[in-house]
Amino acid sequence: MAVACVSGGAQGIGRAIALAFARAGYGVSIADPDRQAGLETIQWIRAEGGDAMYVNADVSSPDDVAKWMRLTEAELGPPDALVNNAGIGHTVPFLELKPEDFDRVLAVNLRGTMLCSQAAARLMAAKGSGSIVNIASTRALMSEPDSESYAASKGGIVSLTHAMAVSLGRYGIRVNCISPGWIETRDWQYSERAETPVHSERDRLQHPVGRVGRPDDIAEACLFMCRSAGFVTGQNWVIDGGMTIK
Ligand code: NAD
Repeated sequence: MAVACVSGGAQGIGRAIALAFARAGYGVSIADPDRQAGLETIQWIRAEGGDAMYVNADVSSPDDVAKWMRLTEAELGPPDALVNNAGIGHTVPFLELKPEDFDRVLAVNLRGTMLCSQAAARLMAAKGSGSIVNIASTRALMSEPDSESYAASKGGIVSLTHAMAVSLGRYGIRVNCISPGWIETRDWQYSERAETPVHSERDRLQHPVGRVGRPDDIAEACLFMCRSAGFVTGQNWVIDGGMTIK
């Protein structure tokens, strides 16, 4: 059985990614600090006949990441796929941005991606193959006011993806990233944009496809990157309904 690790897989886009890999026959290992949501997700997968495990872990902690990989290898085997999906947002006027808040966003979004990739790549290298997909954001390419921490972390993920793709190719490991546009999840639903019908309608009109994204749009792309895109590495796949080309 192939094995997929999904960080932040307890809910939102990560849950859809975990479900997509499980439905494709992967054993799925989820790392997430939200225990209740994590257990719900693996119960859901198991109810469909899939194989899944949950590890309570914060991706910014080297010890937690090491624990996640150790438990995954012991229970399911070494990973064939890793999706670095865990991420936090942060919006504050730039003139009020605190260094500690900037560091926290970078620690989860960027350092977490590096730590999980390194730990998984050690196991993938030993068997000579693997695929890593990092979830960046269109915020790496275009910005809105007051989103410096998030934008910097996601821009860093795009550059980290290039660098890791070059370093890990020799071990048979491909590394790509996906930059979603607006996806209907917890963040989007609770944002000012969704609460205000005008903003919500504006968001829809912003997309040439006429809708905001769904978690499954991203999940299917992750699966394609890992299963089928054997000659693709170091790429940033923008999945945004055409928003950034408009
Ligand atoms: P979400 O908040 O619904 O889910 C994020 C998950 O990550 C949660 O289960 C949370 O518990 C987990 N998480 C948070 N901190 C963690 C940590 N330190 N270690 C491990 N897990 C942690 O968010 P989402 O909208 O599903 O976003 C998922 C990813 O997609 C994020 O990286 C986000 O930046 C990115 N993204 C989202 C959108 C969007 O519109 N929703 C757009 C572009 C990019």
